[in-house]
Amino acid sequence: MSQPDTHPDYPFASQADLPGVAFTAMRQVILAQAKSGSLPVLEDDDQRLTVETAHGLIGLRPGLESETAGMVAGQDARWLFVMKNAVIGQMRHLMPAVAEAMRWSDSGNVTELPPNFQFMRTTKVEQLGPVFLRATLQGEDVSAYGTKSIHFRLVQPSLEAETEWPSVAPNGSIKWTDGPGAPHKPVYTVRSVDYDAGEIITDIFLHDGGKTTEWAAEIKEGSKARNVIGLVGPMGGGLMDAKRTLMACDETGFPAAARILENLPEDATGELYLEAENGAECDYPIEVPKGMVVTWLSRAKGDRLLDAVLERYKDFSDAPIWFAGEKDQARQLREITKAAGYDSQNLRISGFWRDENVAPK
Ligand SMILES: Cc1cc2nc3c(=O)[nH]c(=O)nc-3n(C[C@H](O)[C@H](O)[C@H](O)COP(=O)(O)OP(=O)(O)OC[C@H]3O[C@@H](n4cnc5c(N)ncnc54)[C@H](O)[C@@H]3O)c2cc1C
Repeated sequence: MSQPDTHPDYPFASQADLPGVAFTAMRQVILAQAKSGSLPVLEDDDQRLTVETAHGLIGLRPGLESETAGMVAGQDARWLFVMKNAVIGQMRHLMPAVAEAMRWSDSGNVTELPPNFQFMRTTKVEQLGPVFLRATLQGEDVSAYGTKSIHFRLVQPSLEAETEWPSVAPNGSIKWTDGPGAPHKPVYTVRSVDYDAGEIITDIFLHDGGKTTEWAAEIKEGSKARNVIGLVGPMGGGLMDAKRTLMACDETGFPAAARILENLPEDATGELYLEAENGAECDYPIEVPKGMVVTWLSRAKGDRLLDAVLERYKDFSDAPIWFAGEKDQARQLREITKAAGYDSQNLRISGFWRDENVAPK
């Protein structure tokens, strides 16, 4: 297979035929996404489409054995892999059989472990207030963990069998097993990073039944049995730049909120709602710009994050709204703000965990 042309900022490039996919139809899909995400379109004619995203290029080219090929490019092998997985994820929704059959032009270079996976050693776990543990993860190179994506999968060794770490499937997607050796792999936030020391700090909320809580407690008590873990990332949203904002989260979002807030301009204004079982008693350290008003909510007293946001969101119709909490509350807020005609550019509303007592919708 021939190699696709490369871009100086994104020298790692690859393409894959998309049999049965019409160029014009796929072009419309990608252009619509570029528009909703305000992404720059670098090339657009009847043979080539190239869009720049936060993590690399995505586009269309003539295929070798089909009308259309998907093209991706990244600044290194890790970002190329992330871009491929974004395309495969999209294709799985649109045409699952095509997604499974995709073969990338650089597939011969694919390593056994996914390029965005790395092993880390957990060097410290300490108590952070009554309901958080702070873990220090140390690895060879954490330079990929910048400000555009501040989350990662914390891949924990299986307790039941020899751990089966992820691999790369023939279509270039990350492949997990689901047997007894399957690792637990929830998403966490990089609270801070020390590039020289190769360290990532992450804060873990202690909740009932949490496997990560068990893993972290085990290491805090001195066990080294599962201190080597995997990291997949970076992934998810990054920092924000806002003069005025409405932010709201429960404990799972405190680390992300703390990181975003410490990077807002000093004169930023707005409102911040923080929900915890007993409000501020959770003692989680969050520094807030002087002009932001902070309200602690207490679940024990019957407060609910979504209710607090719904009381206030109308005053933030033209400002960024950031929400991280229970999945169903996030879904409701997304629907309400969409129905109210809010600009999707201003909305970062995420479900950070799922309450199993709430039926999925
Ligand atoms: C982008 C992103 C970033 C995140 N960052 C962080 C972070 O920095 N720190 C952090 O602590 N969490 C964070 N989370 C949330 C975390 O991934 C989930 O809470 C996850 O379920 C934790 O896995 P676990 O192993 O503790 O529990 P699991 O083994 O996955 O779940 C066990 C049980 O716990 C329940 N559960 C999960 N979360 C909660 C909760 N908050 N309260 C009550 N019950 C719960 C589940 O419904 C399930 O019944 C983040 C999530 C996302 C999507």
